[in-house]
Amino acid sequence: MTVAETDGIGEHRLALQSALGDDIVLTDADAMAHYCRDWHGDVTSGAVAVLRPRSTEDVAASVRICRALGLGIVPQGGNTGLVLGAIPDMPERHVVLSLERMNRIRKIDADDFSAVVEAGCILWEMKEAIAEKGMFFPLALGAQGSCRIGGNVSTNAGGINVLRYGMTRELVLGLEVVLPDGSIFDGLSTLRKDNRGVDLKQLFIGAEGTLGIITAVSIKLMPYPDKVATALLGLASLQDAISLYRRARRDCCDLMSAFEFMPPLAFTLAREAMPDLPIPIAPDYPAYVLMEISGSGLVDIDDLMQRFLEGVMTDGLVVDGTIAASQAQARNLWLIREGMNEGQAKRGSHMRSDISVSLSQLASFVADAEAAILQALPDCISVSYGHVGDGNVHLNVLPPVGLTPGERAERIYQAKTVLNEVVDRYHGSISAEHGIGRLKRPDFDERLPETHRKLLTAVKHAIDPGLMMNPGCQLNFQPKS
Ligand SMILES: Cc1cc2nc3c(=O)[nH]c(=O)nc-3n(C[C@H](O)[C@H](O)[C@H](O)COP(=O)(O)OP(=O)(O)OC[C@H]3O[C@@H](n4cnc5c(N)ncnc54)[C@H](O)[C@@H]3O)c2cc1C
Repeated sequence: MTVAETDGIGEHRLALQSALGDDIVLTDADAMAHYCRDWHGDVTSGAVAVLRPRSTEDVAASVRICRALGLGIVPQGGNTGLVLGAIPDMPERHVVLSLERMNRIRKIDADDFSAVVEAGCILWEMKEAIAEKGMFFPLALGAQGSCRIGGNVSTNAGGINVLRYGMTRELVLGLEVVLPDGSIFDGLSTLRKDNRGVDLKQLFIGAEGTLGIITAVSIKLMPYPDKVATALLGLASLQDAISLYRRARRDCCDLMSAFEFMPPLAFTLAREAMPDLPIPIAPDYPAYVLMEISGSGLVDIDDLMQRFLEGVMTDGLVVDGTIAASQAQARNLWLIREGMNEGQAKRGSHMRSDISVSLSQLASFVADAEAAILQALPDCISVSYGHVGDGNVHLNVLPPVGLTPGERAERIYQAKTVLNEVVDRYHGSISAEHGIGRLKRPDFDERLPETHRKLLTAVKHAIDPGLMMNPGCQLNFQPKS
């Protein structure tokens, strides 16, 4: 008998195995390690067990036995969340429940413009299966090869197409959820209009697994946009990028599907990650925009992009630009955006943020925040980029090389404190798209208005009176012993 089997954890493991079987319950430390480490590998944890159900009934049975044992449940999708929402912080009291084996597409209905998918479907694989039917699911983010639709719904993920199609919330038609008492909320409708009282599914979208476990999702589909034009543009300032965005929405008939802002440092960072990446524009303009318009059917997207750029260049709003002539060239332009993330990671641990302010204040916010960080931390570099159309900026701060881990951690903490102060002044959000998880809990808690806290507490206690769902995530509700 091992040490664990003689203590409380060992008893819990035996009880889980006897209720659910060895196929569902993992307890081996090596096998569990992968589920107990965050995306960047900065934080590792442990768990009583990792549960890997194959069906909604398995999830319900898992919830019932965890409830009987007084164990907290941490749901996990692709574990790509960047705020420590999907790994336990009390390894001796929490299980991880991975949805990875619930990855079936239940239905794709092109006539109804809808699909029903299980929560563990990997976003990219699901989109490929949908594309084979000539349809399109517009959620698109850097982690799409690993994140899972249940995780996307639980974080209300954003990504590059939000300006046209909305956050995940706007793409969800219905949900199936296992509740903390083991019962199943069957709300998998594909109706687009349904005003029969309160829309209960909304409670679980963005709840980060604190109210129940999403097991299946019905989603909206669009016709596949087989015509796409992508351009990389050099501009004189971020303010010009915002003016360009406003004009593009009008001139391009709201067919714009992406509009990303990047600083000139993006090219250096991207090349640090991908040395052979082609950079088809002079790399020293003050600001860059990566813009995409797309559509299907009778519209001439290439002509629209061409005429739009002629107009804005004539008016001096865009200084320089290049339009991708092929899918491969478009892919290379997007690799600059993705490569700059990898380049930052290569420079070591740094302060990552995910902020939104109103669009009209975005340029002055970035200027103020970068100035405040420069004043407080003159040896650090700020990198601001993001989804301009959503007022969403990732303002990251890179400490210099050669610091000790303690010095880096201190710089990161100081940068976050300075940045949050500027965000508060602008009445912005400290989490535009990644959620709260455990990482941002103190900052969220500190800023939570009393009425919001009362409502959140009332909802939590009503749905999860045992406080067993994702304890420690968003707010610090821990399970009762
Ligand atoms: C390279 C990279 C790029 C990214 N880009 C973006 C971006 O552009 N926009 C954006 O919004 N995010 C982005 N993210 C963050 C992340 O990919 C998203 O938050 C994503 O939606 C998380 O999905 P997941 O399946 O990995 O969830 P996980 O990380 O596994 O879980 C996230 C949270 O949801 C809960 N959860 C997971 N599945 C369920 C379920 N079935 N039921 C109940 N609760 C559940 C977890 O407990 C956790 O609290 C990025 C991450 C990376 C690594």
